[in-house]
Amino acid sequence: MTAIETNLFLDNVGVMFDRAVQCVELPPGLSEHIRECDSVYKVSFPVEFGEGYHMFSGWRATHSEHRLPAKGGIRYAPDVTQDEVEAMAALMTFKCAVVDVPFGGSKGGLCIDPRDYSADALERITRRFTRELAAKGYISPSLNVPAPDMGTGPREMAWIADEYRALYPSDINAIACVTGKPLSRGGMPGRTEATGRGIQFGLREFFRHASDVAAAGLESGLAGKRMVVQALGNVGYYAAKFLQEEDGVRVTAVIERDGAIVNEDGLPVERLRQYLLEHGGVAGFPEGTYVEEGALILESDCDILLLAAMENQITAANAPRIKARLIAEGANGPVTPEADEELQRHGIVVLPDIYLNAGGVVVSYFEWIKNLFHIRLGRLENRLHQLRGEYIVEMIEEVTGKTVPEHHVKRISGGADEYALARSALDDTMRSAYRQIRSTKMRHEKADSLRMAAWVLAIEKLNASFVEVGI
Ligand code: GLU
Repeated sequence: MTAIETNLFLDNVGVMFDRAVQCVELPPGLSEHIRECDSVYKVSFPVEFGEGYHMFSGWRATHSEHRLPAKGGIRYAPDVTQDEVEAMAALMTFKCAVVDVPFGGSKGGLCIDPRDYSADALERITRRFTRELAAKGYISPSLNVPAPDMGTGPREMAWIADEYRALYPSDINAIACVTGKPLSRGGMPGRTEATGRGIQFGLREFFRHASDVAAAGLESGLAGKRMVVQALGNVGYYAAKFLQEEDGVRVTAVIERDGAIVNEDGLPVERLRQYLLEHGGVAGFPEGTYVEEGALILESDCDILLLAAMENQITAANAPRIKARLIAEGANGPVTPEADEELQRHGIVVLPDIYLNAGGVVVSYFEWIKNLFHIRLGRLENRLHQLRGEYIVEMIEEVTGKTVPEHHVKRISGGADEYALARSALDDTMRSAYRQIRSTKMRHEKADSLRMAAWVLAIEKLNASFVEVGI
């Protein structure tokens, strides 16, 4: 089946769904139900600042409520559309299913360029947006829980949580109405970098499977792999930083809004990010060669291409020229369906968005649980873990008469603090989801790519959940 190339993100998600659903036997009518967005709420509201009133409009779409709350970020971008919000809400449903996060899918968007507003104005806009959404149940700890996305972060989440709590002071779980909050406001250590960390864990898991690595035409091991990164935002920055510092990946190019920086010997990710934050672009960065036509660098020779910008970046137009062996989808929907087929024809392997960028929502899930528990995760057992570790060291020393080296003592007697718990649970989730995708691919002849297998896996899980409870 050949897809019709289209710019509509929602159509693209529909095409992926239609391809995958052919591999799954569903009760009549269920596929239509799963495919469609359950509801979309459009808001327009005025906020007064400066000389008068300013109008804002946005959406919150809930794709599926088979599990509640529905979950997904809120994007602040000047060109956000209803189509985009619905498409991303659908991706959230499938993403949560792939990584066994028991939530439905949702997404929000506000048409605004946050760089045009002061922090004070943004706070007022965010609080008003929160009131609009909360009034209709599109923000609620039990029904719909937003999180950061492009253009939003912990600061906006703190405003949302605070506004919600002011609206519903008797709701003991009010703080769980949003995730990605700052630590001081009930957030989870490691949530900010979670999507990047998940990408690292996903790539590590891929490289544990020798036949998958060989199928991509790559040599074993992540160390020394040449990686091109599109966008050094929250997702791309952390993924590139961790992969460079901890796995020996060489970042040979970074593509940003104003062009690309290339250095075959490897770019210093941390310094480049600081430069980007200070100068608003990569042009002039002294440790690489600047290329104005950044999109061309997507087509450069490399082992891994990490797409961490936004949707529709690899299309039918540039797919035939892509030379990377492995594409890592840090963004949502960066490869169109037609491009996806083209890449597959060239033997290029894609680690799909609904698996690879799920780290954010996984750690969001832990944050939500911790908020409902009203206790810091690990608080009850942290010291116990340490004592056990210390005791094991003592016992070994007593029995062997030797001293256990300090680095072993540190590792064995470390506590179960929140950061360690979330990080290890994320690692476990990414390993397990990859293995599930892999075995789904083996079970279904028609699921001939990791993307199709991930979609089939998600649809099978949704089917099971609908059949269990009835629609
Ligand atoms: N916005 C992120 C995503 O697209 C995170 C969603 C969440 O944590 O709920 O996956």
